[in-house]
Amino acid sequence: MTKYVFITGGVVSSLGKGLASAALGALLQARGYSVRLCKMDPYLNIDPGTMSPTQHGEVYVTDDGAETDLDLGHYERFTGRPASQTDNITTGRIYMNVLQRERRGEYLGATIQVIPHITDEIKSFIREKDGSADFILVETGGTVGDIEAHPYLEAIRQFSNEVGPERALFIHATWLPYIPAAGELKTKPTQHSVKELMAAGIRPNILLCRADRPIDVGERKKISLFCNIPYERVIPALDVSSIYEVPLTYHAEGLDDEVLRCFGLSVDKAPELSQWHDIIDRVKNPESEVKVAIVGKYTELSDSYKSLNEALVHGGIANRVKVKLKFVESEIFEQDGTIHELEDVHAILVPGGFGVRGTEGKIKAVQFAREHKIPYFGICFGMQMAVIESCRNQLGLTKASSTEFGATDEPVVGLMTEWVKGNETVARTQAGDLGGTMRLGAYPAVLKKGSHVADIYGSNSIMERHRHRYEVNTSYIPRLEAKGLVFSGMSPDGELPEIVEIPDHPWFVGVQFHPELKSKPFDPHPLFVSFIKAAVDKSRLV
Ligand code: GLN
Repeated sequence: MTKYVFITGGVVSSLGKGLASAALGALLQARGYSVRLCKMDPYLNIDPGTMSPTQHGEVYVTDDGAETDLDLGHYERFTGRPASQTDNITTGRIYMNVLQRERRGEYLGATIQVIPHITDEIKSFIREKDGSADFILVETGGTVGDIEAHPYLEAIRQFSNEVGPERALFIHATWLPYIPAAGELKTKPTQHSVKELMAAGIRPNILLCRADRPIDVGERKKISLFCNIPYERVIPALDVSSIYEVPLTYHAEGLDDEVLRCFGLSVDKAPELSQWHDIIDRVKNPESEVKVAIVGKYTELSDSYKSLNEALVHGGIANRVKVKLKFVESEIFEQDGTIHELEDVHAILVPGGFGVRGTEGKIKAVQFAREHKIPYFGICFGMQMAVIESCRNQLGLTKASSTEFGATDEPVVGLMTEWVKGNETVARTQAGDLGGTMRLGAYPAVLKKGSHVADIYGSNSIMERHRHRYEVNTSYIPRLEAKGLVFSGMSPDGELPEIVEIPDHPWFVGVQFHPELKSKPFDPHPLFVSFIKAAVDKSRLV
């Protein structure tokens, strides 16, 4: 029977609960169990799709086209199990579901309330996963004590009561701040946080204590005593230099053993962790180092490009090199004489993006990479910028632009109002909603035989995830191909350009999709492996 692990957080946000959940998922898998992870987000947006990445980090897109919290990216990267729409819910969506039902009259005249209607909706989000894995790990976003988190705590309390303690357990992640004046880690915020959780009727079975230095026996005993949790279930979760070390360190501290013991399961057989040891060996013992510039506009929050950063790390793992990222705000290239910021890098990447700000700088970065033969990887917006750059500087179409930035005489990139998904036509209007209306999720593409990308993938047909509103205008293809920009990947109907490349360049690839979303440390995406390899080759030349 499916067992449920609920993960909550206390004291402060940004504790890395998502990572902790993902790491526990990996450990349970390494014991031979199947796992499924899901996330409940307490904010009122229906999904994070319309949020700025600098507010809430990257929007992670699933195969089935859901725009979800970036923690689902951690889940996929650590467990290899593809996430889906049904693995992420927000308060906005919960209320939307309940209110739509109310409008349909399905509540038969009842007064709609947080308890039971909202909590029932939350419980059914959890319950619908029953039987789909040995363990369902349910992470509650936010921090215990937040007003928004209350209905979730109430729902998981009720849920655990319904399935019984043999099928549900609670892990609470907290933080132990180090106070230099006292020279010690303080346990009081953790005590208060557990008290807060108890007030919601939840007694945590396991505490995961984040700290920046070792927690000594005395502090651990104190937490155990005051929080009423056995000593061995007060688990130290110390900062580590690579996120891929987390499964190994949590295992060393006994997390997976204690979870299994709570459920009365055997811990006799050690988990199979060799793939994690191999990854860490590669991360910690690189043979050399390459520097990659990411030219974007959400550079002030590195979580904006979470999956991208990780996919580049994966490319490094595959090539046994350390990948140093240099985030460059593209607007700086709009002033003269600053392109030298790109002179010390071995490769340049322009990632996904929206809106006109910073685009001129991105176009300059593409031009620099193309002309100076520096490996270039354009992702989604970065591909669109590459095509505009070629139109302007190789075809002489100085007005080449995207309709995303306003009306233009040379709409090299334009809004798509209709396209095909499977056997269906999807349509959208110019003035329609912004939320959930992009070309989203997994789409197939056909690669040109003998092209660089077909060689990289080792296949002529691929499936990649999309998230964009605009597409490259096919009417420019013949002129661009005459100048050496090859459209080496197209949608199966030939209508949508998916990949461009320049054969006469060490490595120049632009993709309309987001390959970073599918890369995993133990299964790095071929495009990132190849891109980092090109950066390594470049580093050997300079
Ligand atoms: N803004 C572009 C579009 O909507 C690119 C989006 C992206 O990079 N994800 O088409």
